[in-house]
Amino acid sequence: MRLETLAVHAGGECDAATGAVAPPIHLATTFRHGPAAEKIAGYEYQREGNPTNDRLCAAMAGLEGGAAALTFASGMAAISGLLESLPPDSHIVIPDDCYTGLRVLGAEFLPQRGIRVSTLDMTDLDALDRLCQAGVDLIWAETPSNPRMQVSDIQALAGIAKAHASVLVCDNTFASPVLQRPLQLGADIVMHSTTKYFGGHSDVLGGALVFAQAGDLHQRVAHRLHITGATLSPFSAWLTLRGCRSLPARMAMHCANARAVADFLDAHAAIERVNYPGLAKHPGHAIAARQMSDFGGMLSIQVHGGRNAAIRMAGRLKLFTNATSLGGCESLIEHRASVEGATPTSPDNLLRISVGLEHPDDLIADLAQALE
Ligand SMILES: *Cc1c(COP(=O)(O)O)cnc(C)c1O
Repeated sequence: MRLETLAVHAGGECDAATGAVAPPIHLATTFRHGPAAEKIAGYEYQREGNPTNDRLCAAMAGLEGGAAALTFASGMAAISGLLESLPPDSHIVIPDDCYTGLRVLGAEFLPQRGIRVSTLDMTDLDALDRLCQAGVDLIWAETPSNPRMQVSDIQALAGIAKAHASVLVCDNTFASPVLQRPLQLGADIVMHSTTKYFGGHSDVLGGALVFAQAGDLHQRVAHRLHITGATLSPFSAWLTLRGCRSLPARMAMHCANARAVADFLDAHAAIERVNYPGLAKHPGHAIAARQMSDFGGMLSIQVHGGRNAAIRMAGRLKLFTNATSLGGCESLIEHRASVEGATPTSPDNLLRISVGLEHPDDLIADLAQALE
């Protein structure tokens, strides 16, 4: 089945009891069992699994082409649920350009559990290969990356991971499975903040892990999730499943709009640099063209004139909202260095843009007046 069809139908069987076409939301925390705790319909307690969440897991696994999926209360719960399931003394590598929460987890929390964290430019395959000679248990990729939109070669990373018996995880939040399917390129696990494109309407938090194989690691992470309890609520699972239905249609429009916005900004004299993998001059363009079916709805720009010019531009926009997050219907913009805390890593003239589903001409008109 093709992805558009899967997106509409995965986990979407009509309700057996009523024939309802839209799935029911099962809010029950507990499910009747037999006198000796025999499971009757496969469920026991909401934290360990519930029918609404199972539908979403089926959809996530289907869309990413994995054997099993787990959902979490947020993307960060998914990330920490996986990384904190690793044994002490594990060595992991994370990208130098990545989601801020992962960087903080790696700097503050993982070392407390005896997990060693190295940071690397994931576009430098030779450096990764050298680091792996010393023993690396898990490689974390994020492509395109936040916020510089760097592209790493998933297939090449998978080759290095295989050669050194390490696990390759890919944060696929920016691309979504509509544009990029890391498991098919050799990754072992795909991670999503479903808060973003899956939810699609800036109104539901969630995270997911999709495993290529339902093996030991999947079991360990599932067990830890069930005990530590960062469970996705059934209502959030339902909203996210609803988002799946329109994901391919929305992604197509996000991509077309982002392309128009990127072309406009790239030609504008006030802009120093546009980071969008769809531009032929982007250093990761060739890899992106190979491993993605389109280039996504996210971009970042660097404005001539430094921090003040960037903040001035962000402040003059009327249609773009100054807000964090991404993947919703409305266009958002954010001065990343201002939200990265005491030690920002983004250039101080960088603005990250989530291009929404408005008409591109309206978006471009707004950008043009903000840059006057
Ligand atoms: C938002 C985001 C996360 C974290 O997800 P939350 O749902 O906010 O916890 C992780 N990775 C990327 C790329 C993100 O954009």
